[in-house]
Amino acid sequence: MRQSIYIIMDNYPVARDVYRLRLDGPTDALTHAGQFANIRIDGMYLRRPFSIVDWDSGGFVILYKIVGEGTRKLSNIPIGRTLDVMLGLGNGFDMTVSRAPLLIGGGVGVPPLYALAKRFAVNNITPTALLGFASKYDIILADELRGLGCKVIVTLETDGQRVTDRLDEAAADRDFYYACGPEGMLRAVKRQCPLPGQLSLETRMACGVGLCRGCTRETLAGGKRICVDGPVFNKEALAW
Ligand SMILES: Cc1cc2nc3c(=O)[nH]c(=O)nc-3n(C[C@H](O)[C@H](O)[C@H](O)COP(=O)(O)OP(=O)(O)OC[C@H]3O[C@@H](n4cnc5c(N)ncnc54)[C@H](O)[C@@H]3O)c2cc1C
Repeated sequence: MRQSIYIIMDNYPVARDVYRLRLDGPTDALTHAGQFANIRIDGMYLRRPFSIVDWDSGGFVILYKIVGEGTRKLSNIPIGRTLDVMLGLGNGFDMTVSRAPLLIGGGVGVPPLYALAKRFAVNNITPTALLGFASKYDIILADELRGLGCKVIVTLETDGQRVTDRLDEAAADRDFYYACGPEGMLRAVKRQCPLPGQLSLETRMACGVGLCRGCTRETLAGGKRICVDGPVFNKEALAW
């Protein structure tokens, strides 16, 4: 983990209430897709956690949805200002277990799956991505995933469809799944998909480094802190 000051290079909307933020600064603390940043926002007591969408040697990108005061304030911070960020938090996904990955994302759960797809693509492994959104106005990263060569299936609730309706088709030639999204979706995926898998959980979080234990969730191996023991868990570990 590294705490440092980052400069805002981009901060603009890419879908309904969803912004893309690029922050330049050191990224050596990022080792795995699925890790997250904990960002201090002026006027907010607690930092706010966001998954890393992409990174390079000069900086990293997040996509965030405006859901409350912190994310609204973040959307109003102009290019050129700086932010205090803790980077490289959490365990991230294990890429060594799959040659034919299925990525299953819901809403703003899709961002860490893009980071994962990009790193698989570097190893000449092309994931299938099954993405669920509320409506066409909420779609994020589908074109970018196609740009990596992924087969992308999008479901929209406005069409009366959820990711679980296309799961059997998407999983047909896959050997492992990686999922991130609302807990209801994750529970349904875990129930329905027979493949082995890993799920990234999101919860309200405080310190982000395991000290306050505020994000502890019960697993089959006892209480685990989502910020340091997760956010990624093997499906067998979850007591759902
Ligand atoms: C590991 C991790 C990765 C995340 N990655 C992303 C991401 O890539 N993009 C993104 O848009 N969001 C992500 N989130 C969620 C994001 O942290 C929250 O939406 C944000 O902290 C809300 O801040 P706020 O001040 O705007 O809202 P608040 O005023 O704190 O809350 C507003 C509303 O959002 C709900 N809420 C707040 N935090 C969460 C949360 N963590 N999960 C579910 N509901 C929440 C509250 O219950 C409340 O209803 C992630 C969360 C975690 C723990």
